[in-house]
Amino acid sequence: MSENLSKEELAKLPFMDDNLDLVTRVEDLLGRLTIEEKFTLCVGRMLFYTRPIKRLGIKSFKMADGPHGIGPHSSQNAECTYFPTAICRAATWNPELSREFGVAIAQEIREIGYHMLLGPGVNIDRTPLCGRTFEYQTEDPYLNIKMAVPVVNGIQSQRIAACVKHLACNNQEVNRFTSSSEINERTLKEIYLPAFEACVREADAWSVMGCYNKVNGIYGCESENLIKERLMADWGFRGFVVSDWYATRLTTNTEKAINAGLTLEMPSAIKYKKRLLRKVFSEGKFTEATLNENIKRLLRVMFLVGLFDDENKIPTGSRNTSEHQSIARKIAEEGIVLLKNENKLLPFNISELKKIAIIGPNADIEMAKGGGSSQVQPIYEITPLKGLKERCKGKIEIIDSLSEADAVFIFAGLDHSPGNDCENFDRKKLELPKDQIELINKTVKENPKTVVILINGSPISMEDWLDNVPSVVEVWYAGQEGGHAIANILFGDINPSGKLPLTFPKKLSDSPAHISKKTYPGKENVYYDEGIFVGYRHFDTRNIEPLFPFGHGLSYTTFTYENLKLSKEKLTNKDKLLVAVDIVNTGKYNGSEVVQLYVQDIESSVERPLKELKGFKKIYLEVGQKRNVEFELDKRDLSFYDEINKRWGAEKGIFSILVGGSSRDIRLRGKIEYLG
Ligand code: BGC
Repeated sequence: MSENLSKEELAKLPFMDDNLDLVTRVEDLLGRLTIEEKFTLCVGRMLFYTRPIKRLGIKSFKMADGPHGIGPHSSQNAECTYFPTAICRAATWNPELSREFGVAIAQEIREIGYHMLLGPGVNIDRTPLCGRTFEYQTEDPYLNIKMAVPVVNGIQSQRIAACVKHLACNNQEVNRFTSSSEINERTLKEIYLPAFEACVREADAWSVMGCYNKVNGIYGCESENLIKERLMADWGFRGFVVSDWYATRLTTNTEKAINAGLTLEMPSAIKYKKRLLRKVFSEGKFTEATLNENIKRLLRVMFLVGLFDDENKIPTGSRNTSEHQSIARKIAEEGIVLLKNENKLLPFNISELKKIAIIGPNADIEMAKGGGSSQVQPIYEITPLKGLKERCKGKIEIIDSLSEADAVFIFAGLDHSPGNDCENFDRKKLELPKDQIELINKTVKENPKTVVILINGSPISMEDWLDNVPSVVEVWYAGQEGGHAIANILFGDINPSGKLPLTFPKKLSDSPAHISKKTYPGKENVYYDEGIFVGYRHFDTRNIEPLFPFGHGLSYTTFTYENLKLSKEKLTNKDKLLVAVDIVNTGKYNGSEVVQLYVQDIESSVERPLKELKGFKKIYLEVGQKRNVEFELDKRDLSFYDEINKRWGAEKGIFSILVGGSSRDIRLRGKIEYLG
């Protein structure tokens, strides 16, 4: 086994032959590895690489953060496209844009010679205070699936591995290294696991990252239940599991992780130190067959990304192209949410405005490099001020005097500093900083034509100022083209079509995770006592009025919903129900609407949410245009996870089918009877 092969001899080995099938190549290479080499492959080096094995021509497998652009810390300072963060992308409710984003970011990974993107992040937004809400997508499992699966598909279409993170229940940053998310089976199945499962079942994700925290008392990176039983056995995962960085510091021991199915310990050896591996192996605490299974998974992905193949045969990469920048801009334009627009203050007609004032702490801050491991270093970033200056040049004067301005734009929000949308810290409160609230209230007194534009990545309460302000726009962290997108929205070149992927509560205590100190922040344990009642499931069922509901987002035009048609009145467990509805653009602007379908179980033996999202479609309509939108539902869409019988099931009876423009703007209702 230790023979030194020449390059030519190496090239002739079966595993190097890309005409052979994947399994044969993997088996051939595995058969050539010594036990020591297998140990070598279990751990990272230089923070983002695996260790090479020169003897067999196994190069380093290279990974980079993630999730909305490539992080300079993980790519030797490569400058890369800064896309809008995941919460903004989710607010587009446009799965196709998610796919385009996946393709683009994978092309950038390829261009820098790397193999895996550490993303997407699909943890559920349980508390609005979570410091990484901006990196995750939504509070809703269905939207989570629909926006994550295309990212994985897009990435992997370029033969780059996606790494879906962080399995599981890493829903807060406070105590993330030590706390245990205490959660019941139904809640795991209905809320927290579906996106992971779908990324595996529907997109064949090549990698999954284990979380820092424990779930029901066991660390994610050594949880046989999460990795072996659910991910691998139930969902059919064929990829490899990588630890979150240094997540194995506090885990129990070497054998537990190996036996649970953790292939790769990152970023360096802790539990997988060679000395430990040798010892534990010699004591028989894990078998070579188990180790082989772990290693095979990594080898398989190495082949999939083309680590052993002729470079001419793998997709080429590209970085910072105008195409990628335009995808970043499109996501921003479609992800920006118009929260409030009294008296149609927006959009402004550029030829009618003479003078504007642009103020607020977020007017000219670059956000790319903030937030923690998701930071990006773009070649440029169009801040709101830059975007507006460019747009107004020669047409509108930008002045300091608030009272003399025809309109005032206040850029408020958070800034990715610790405690303000940043990894490793949760936010302390839901409100904006005091000085910003004062600034808003003072400004609007001086000039009623004030628009508040929020740059942030998690819900903000607005009780102290919302009533005073005519228009509010949620921009999120909108990527390096954000400033252009903002100008396009404010001046009406783009009609807003983003919808909230999570509820904005009026106050923190309304939020389901904030019932008690046990439920948040917890200590050793965080009790998910609210169960499945996360986000709008809680607000709707408990009849608590949110500030802005899930799915909310205004447009400059108006849409009428009519002719709800259900293909059946009664449904059996084999039937499909077609739901059709006509949407008409009855306003004065062309624009897109996200038509949302919710299902409500009228009577049930267990507590169920008042409604659950089970379909959505984003459609573009010109003024006066009418389009028919269709949805298909079946038994699965009526089901819940039955903890007593340990299976998914739908109960016989009446279900309401609700169609509308947000979770609280239901325009049409129908009923069906489920016959079982
Ligand atoms: C984060 C991961 C990230 C990793 C590598 C960790 O701290 O939780 O999301 O991919 O670091 O930077």
